[in-house]
Amino acid sequence: MESSGRRTKILATVGPASDSDATLRGMIAAGMDAVRLNLSHGTVEEALVVHRRVRTLAREAGRDVGTLVDLPGPKIRAASFGRDGVDLPDGKRIRLVPGNSRSTADVIEVGYAALLDGIEVGDRISFGDGAIDIEVVDTASDHLEAIVSHGGRLTGRPGVHIPSERLRVSTPTDDDLRILDAFVEEGVDMVALSFVRSAHDIRRLGTEPHPRGPLVVAKIETRSAIDNLAGILEAAGAIMIARGDLGIECSIEDLPHLQKHIIRECIAHGRPAITATQMLESMSHAPTPTRAEASDVANAVFDGSSAVMLSGETATGTDPVNVVATMARLCARADANFDVEGWTRLVTRLRVNDPQNSDGRYRRITDTMTDAAWRVAQELGANAILCLTRSGFTVRAIARYRPQVPILGFTPDERVLRQLAISWGATALPLSGFADNEEMVREAVTTARDRGLVRTGDIVVVLAGIDGHSRTTDVLRVLQVT
Ligand code: PGA
Ligand code: MN
Repeated sequence: MESSGRRTKILATVGPASDSDATLRGMIAAGMDAVRLNLSHGTVEEALVVHRRVRTLAREAGRDVGTLVDLPGPKIRAASFGRDGVDLPDGKRIRLVPGNSRSTADVIEVGYAALLDGIEVGDRISFGDGAIDIEVVDTASDHLEAIVSHGGRLTGRPGVHIPSERLRVSTPTDDDLRILDAFVEEGVDMVALSFVRSAHDIRRLGTEPHPRGPLVVAKIETRSAIDNLAGILEAAGAIMIARGDLGIECSIEDLPHLQKHIIRECIAHGRPAITATQMLESMSHAPTPTRAEASDVANAVFDGSSAVMLSGETATGTDPVNVVATMARLCARADANFDVEGWTRLVTRLRVNDPQNSDGRYRRITDTMTDAAWRVAQELGANAILCLTRSGFTVRAIARYRPQVPILGFTPDERVLRQLAISWGATALPLSGFADNEEMVREAVTTARDRGLVRTGDIVVVLAGIDGHSRTTDVLRVLQVT
């Protein structure tokens, strides 16, 4: 069992190495807050079975483990290089053609019908998550000529990364929408969308606003998404810094700075930020992380990540439970050393003031109320902040201040309980319903006391959205637990 005190959440990808009951149980006990089902691999039916298994095991463990289905978007693959693979040395000249049957060392077939449209001389195309890079040197009517700029060996059907501004297929794809339908039916808590380019892509998902529909996580992994970040943040419920593809799409030296930039925008908008990919990559095979990985995790926490993600480390690695446990320790240690003063200076500068936006006024009220609650909690040395929330909005808004005291998020909505699984520092607790103000507050305080989260004599700050018609936080109270 994990020791407590950790505030940064852990989202772990479940795959063939981790989809058994025993391993999932171990991962939940080690601190996994939410699972990601990556639909780039396997069938929808298989993923639905795992989804049900996670729900059952979480219930048994008494934990609100969130579930997230990750829609692959327009993922392009090369035709097979065969099991033994093919060597592509630096400087080798090759041809690319559209197709799906067979790739060789001289002609690579790419499963993308529009391959020959719009690609230009000088474009860089990557294979196998950046394992091999080629540069296009000539275009013809029926093929592209390219030179291998960073060589290596390709096996099976590697993914192909074409610069997103050249791509003619948009996200979500028809396949994505089919997967989404099946998972919405199943009651999935969150959905991630790959290769988002603008808010329009998110709206095309067509899901109901959360919490009735799943919380939408926009994966930031294209240049256009960086350019359209403000609009995407308005339309999405949360953001993933998808460093795998973003690191191909942008210069690698820009990546750490983009990570900070995106996270800051998330903080300003009150959206959870999930930092993803290669966080503990070496632990796919090794029992301990590299020193660089340990630092990366701590720095992701210091940057303001709400959650950190594990990919291949838990999906196909040798010891998923150990990976989660290690991640939990790294996060807890970084949380304990978080620079609260520096953060305070930063966060008070980050505000979205957009009166044009229909949400602008509501947002300003919630911003001001959460700011006040956080100051009151500090001034009075309160022991906890209790948020009574319908959608989780208030919890996400107060979380950005990184208060040192517990944030207890009370909600009558089971789905919100689990959507808070990726929110920084939040402990989600059930509320029987939205009733009379006095009654609700009493119930919340009693629940918190019964669970040992507050004690008689403690000072607590209560934030609530009492008016059911607006989405604002309109009540701030201070009380002593009796
Ligand atoms: P992926 O997304 O693992 O689905 O590609 C994450 C990333 O690109 O970093
Ligand atoms: Mn990606």
